[in-house]
Amino acid sequence: MDSPPIDTLISAERIQARVRELGAQINRDYAGQSIVLVPVLKGSFVFAADLARAIEVPCAIDFFGCRSYEGTESTGVVQTTLDLSKPVEGKHVIIVEDIVDTGLTMKYMLENFETRRPASLKLCSLLHKAARTKVPIDIDYLGFEIDDVFVIGYGLDHDELYRNLPYLGVIRG
Ligand code: 5GP
Repeated sequence: MDSPPIDTLISAERIQARVRELGAQINRDYAGQSIVLVPVLKGSFVFAADLARAIEVPCAIDFFGCRSYEGTESTGVVQTTLDLSKPVEGKHVIIVEDIVDTGLTMKYMLENFETRRPASLKLCSLLHKAARTKVPIDIDYLGFEIDDVFVIGYGLDHDELYRNLPYLGVIRG
């Protein structure tokens, strides 16, 4: 199968530099505390793996899975595909997301997580598409603001492919 040409949107080097900055910011904000990182599967698994290694405060990791996209379209219905393995009551939780697009997924997740009574709840997202906002979401730690394009790579897929690319790109055409 031939791969279509992919234009680089954000290089691996730029991503790595920004992830280090986000890690440093989290280290400062949570100095003397411990945190639970909650990567949202599947899209944030690469970002979360790099971010976790830029974090020096004691850090547990637990995964949450949900999906709202088929191909390149949001279905508007958020499905939980994997729940946390442990309660997060009384913990400082940081949700790690790949991209906030319409905001519907994060609205669902933040409401879901508030009911679990964490000591604090923050959101770290690699990407945000402001032009697509349906529900405004406060992103405490943001990697990059991007235009309204469908991005792949660094964990993000198109029909389950391209997650393994080390950079963020856009399929040409
Ligand atoms: P939202 O609910 O904010 O519209 O969408 C959030 C989810 O949609 C993301 O976690 C991601 O899985 C998917 N998504 C949104 N925009 C893109 C995109 O440009 N590329 C890819 N691969 N997934 C996207």
